[in-house]
Amino acid sequence: MREGKIYLVGAGPGDPELLTVKAQRLLRQADLVLHDDLVPSAILSLAGSQATAVNVGKRCGAKGATQDEINARMIEAARRGLSVVRLKSGDPGIFGRLAEEIDALEAAGIAYEIVPGITAGIAAAASLGVSLTDRRKAARVVIVTGHQARSIRPEAKIDWKNLAREDATLVVYMPGHEFGNFRRELLEAGLSSDIPAVIVSRASTPEQQHQFTTIAGLPDLPRLESPAILLIGRSLEGAHQRTTLEQLARAVGCAELTLSAD
Ligand code: SAH
Repeated sequence: MREGKIYLVGAGPGDPELLTVKAQRLLRQADLVLHDDLVPSAILSLAGSQATAVNVGKRCGAKGATQDEINARMIEAARRGLSVVRLKSGDPGIFGRLAEEIDALEAAGIAYEIVPGITAGIAAAASLGVSLTDRRKAARVVIVTGHQARSIRPEAKIDWKNLAREDATLVVYMPGHEFGNFRRELLEAGLSSDIPAVIVSRASTPEQQHQFTTIAGLPDLPRLESPAILLIGRSLEGAHQRTTLEQLARAVGCAELTLSAD
């Protein structure tokens, strides 16, 4: 019997047009698609008619398959000779438990391949016209999670003292809704309160929403729909005015709007 293979594929942030060509091809050819909750139906519908799609994700505390169950399912399917797409939102290697799945596949001797995807932070920045590494303001990008694997290492805390610097753009996945803590910790780490921040909900989809603020204003950010991501840094300077103008132009039906001094 032909050996099956597992493709650990990034589905991107939600917009089907942001899928890679390779991800599309693999979806078309897959026998089984094991996907996370965040992958929208517009992307799942790209799977061929022979494919079975199974949601193995969990969200907002709802019970999904455990990591062990997902691993077992992939291994069993590969041993039956199936081509399996393990579809994860964004990039599979960014807060996607990719390493655990690779370990399980290697231990079982199953062939696998990783197909990267566009991660949420990159998509959010692009949608706001922001360069995360604007060299005039940022020398580094720091990708962190607000949840910091506390279930595995309860003592884990974001080490803002080392990470939060004036020349960094911070990209916070799973930021939760308690932004007051971020303000306190970032100010304690020595950042200025006027550094811009933005929360971006459902980046790259038609439902995208965002709200700009500063570190000082973090506690007052509205609760936008999840998934949402928090960006903080001087590289965001100017983006607020730009996106507000764009929204205005869209609202009044202009292709372009420019501000003039008079
Ligand atoms: N592997 C994914 C991240 C999974 S963790 C990636 O590379 O994007 C899930 C978190 O990602 C969410 O809590 C949210 O912080 C972020 N996220 C995923 N998709 C998003 C989107 N379309 N818009 C904003 N944030 C998103």
